[in-house]
Amino acid sequence: MKTIITRFPPSPTGYLHVGGARTALFNWLYARHMKGKFILRIEDTDLERSTKASADAILESLEWLGIDWDEGPYFQSERFDIYKEYVQKLLDSGNAYYCTCTAEEIEEMRKKAMADGGKPKYNGKCRNKKLGKTGNAVVRFASTSAGTTVLKDVIKGNIQFKNTELDDFIIVRSDGVPTYNLAVVVDDITMGINTVIRGDDHVNNTPRQIQIYKALGVEPPAYGHVPMVLGNDRSRLSKRHGAMSVTAYRDMGYLPDALLNYLVRLGWSYGDQEFFLIDELIEKFTLDNIGRSAGIFDQEKLLSLNADHIKASRPNKLVKYWQPFLKERGLDTDDTLYLEKIIETLNTRSKTLIELTEGALFYFQDEISYEEKAAKKNFKPAALKPLKLLCAHIEAIEEFNEANLEDAFKKVMQSCEIKFGKIAQPLRVALTGKAVSPGIFEIMHVLGKDAVISRLKKAVIFMEASTPPLSA
Ligand code: GLU
Repeated sequence: MKTIITRFPPSPTGYLHVGGARTALFNWLYARHMKGKFILRIEDTDLERSTKASADAILESLEWLGIDWDEGPYFQSERFDIYKEYVQKLLDSGNAYYCTCTAEEIEEMRKKAMADGGKPKYNGKCRNKKLGKTGNAVVRFASTSAGTTVLKDVIKGNIQFKNTELDDFIIVRSDGVPTYNLAVVVDDITMGINTVIRGDDHVNNTPRQIQIYKALGVEPPAYGHVPMVLGNDRSRLSKRHGAMSVTAYRDMGYLPDALLNYLVRLGWSYGDQEFFLIDELIEKFTLDNIGRSAGIFDQEKLLSLNADHIKASRPNKLVKYWQPFLKERGLDTDDTLYLEKIIETLNTRSKTLIELTEGALFYFQDEISYEEKAAKKNFKPAALKPLKLLCAHIEAIEEFNEANLEDAFKKVMQSCEIKFGKIAQPLRVALTGKAVSPGIFEIMHVLGKDAVISRLKKAVIFMEASTPPLSA
């Protein structure tokens, strides 16, 4: 069986947006599923709009997503000699020619074609002139105008194009730079690409590319054109629908696996399963299940999937993605075991890593600042004695485990004749500063004996110093 070779060829004219990431993902998953190869190529022939910063941002986004490549990144700007060689082949075989028509002449032709009821196109004026290379000549491809070109699309089915619709398009501009249609074909041929999955905004380029393949005597790859990603108003996804770049989602506290899971489902399905881990996607992904209708980008769904992935991630894996958020807040992040323990108490209640960070702040504070409402409600004079007692019992515990802690609680409840809630809530505020938090036993387990005692003592001092008492 032949090795499947796919590619992702972004143009570095901006960040990697979610639509592009989905295209990369489909190609990557298919290559991984088929045990093939995935090649990365930076299409930077548009020298004016391409920047190194964009190329770097795209690479960084792919790396963060975990989309790794087997070859590349190749840069088209470094491959001009190869394009030249292929253009020469086309010139030599009569499939391309130099054209020196001026902009005005071409404008005239287009107008005339439209006036005759056709599409605006070049009329082939220089095709038989056998012109040589001159200062501002362009190279045009001599399209076949007879018959039809059939795009056998693995997603959309067969699409037929009348060849009369194609004009002799430019393959090398007057400055010597090859155009997209030429470069993409030469690259795909020389890199051995046999499967092209890309956005359906490229459908109309495909018959041109197929004709170049034919002129070069090479079999075109299998094509699959994926419907675009739309915003919730069904227009093409753009900034006004919210964040577009992969890095924006990273910075908002999304996990790469959640974003990938969400993106794959925007165009591919496996029954009605929504949640996938990456290994499972690699196992299940085939081109058969890519849908024909456009995916609608739904921020809420992505958020809820992110929560599911945070829940499902192993704490030791999550730490790596979480640490930058902690660092941003100046928090000590070296003790990864401590971080893992914290995650275990918060991963079912955090939809993003930012929420996780906010929920975890109290773990890192030596001085807890009490939320006013929580303190008012729970640091009542009646709570002072039970808290003091609890502190004493905990201090006396030798082994700081769940059974001994429960025992300490029981003793306080019995001697003060109070229910669990009457001691648990003040304790929660003492430990976290808040009225809502993970379970207090979990928290005590993470904080450890010394921190629990220290926080209890500080709460007692705070309560005693509150004059008049907070709730008098
Ligand atoms: N550089 C093109 C783009 O970003 C690649 C199109 C293709 O896959 O052929 O749209």
